[in-house]
Amino acid sequence: MHAPRKRLGQHFLHDPGVIRRIVAAVDPRPEDRLLEIGPGLGAITLPLLEAAGRLDAVEIDRDLAAALEERTRGRGELRLHVGDALRFDLEGLPGGEPIRVVGNLPYNISTPLLFRLLAAHRRIRDLHLMLQREVVERMQAGPGGREYGRLSVMTQLRCRVEPLFTIGRGAFRPPPKVESAFVRLVPLRTPPVAVADEARFAKLVTHVFSRRRKTLRNALRGLLEETEIRALGLDPGLRPERLSLAEFARLSAAWQPPPAEK
Ligand code: SAM
Repeated sequence: MHAPRKRLGQHFLHDPGVIRRIVAAVDPRPEDRLLEIGPGLGAITLPLLEAAGRLDAVEIDRDLAAALEERTRGRGELRLHVGDALRFDLEGLPGGEPIRVVGNLPYNISTPLLFRLLAAHRRIRDLHLMLQREVVERMQAGPGGREYGRLSVMTQLRCRVEPLFTIGRGAFRPPPKVESAFVRLVPLRTPPVAVADEARFAKLVTHVFSRRRKTLRNALRGLLEETEIRALGLDPGLRPERLSLAEFARLSAAWQPPPAEK
């Protein structure tokens, strides 16, 4: 019996109804190229593997990986990568076909992992992820509220966000402290706003949201003059959380990141 490692965010799904809903939402097909992040004891891995016949998975815990190889033997082609998903080169997977990412993510690293996955959006067909409920709320939040931030802007620039259902703590062993939600993200082939330099856009969004209590005038002091902000049709007295994606795009085209952030 595996003793769950808290440090690795190990909360294993054991509710068959929830597992069935997740697999039905993914709807795996034999031609799919699936990548699971954090397969753990294999609650989702086994049904995915049975439906698709093959699957790549990244698991950091060597003991779990060894047990999973044992359990899946003869049940399909599992290519298990033992290592850190934060360092995994998704774009280096062989074959050029778009990848379907699935994961009941370790919540302690979900934000950096999401930014990494978003950066690889061109190689991804879709993502089905279990996350802390608040994270899904932040992903879909629009301008004006407390939940709207860097994660909302960067996710919405690259993906359509479809929250699917919420899951109570009891579906996991051990139960996590927070509620969970299952979400589908579909990378957009055409972003909702045109962004000429995505890296610069990402830096601007990080810069202003790390100063989210400041007005644009103060958050961009030394980088953009008040008159330049006005010339973009923006009120320098606004807080960053009020800006739409299109307004971030206009600002990012006009600014240069400070040397430390380049
Ligand atoms: N998929 C399983 C399930 O639904 O029951 C396990 C989910 S559990 C929330 C998260 C899994 O991610 C654990 O198996 C944990 O060992 C693994 N994990 C944690 N940090 C990781 C990392 N940096 N890279 C890859 N896997 C990681």
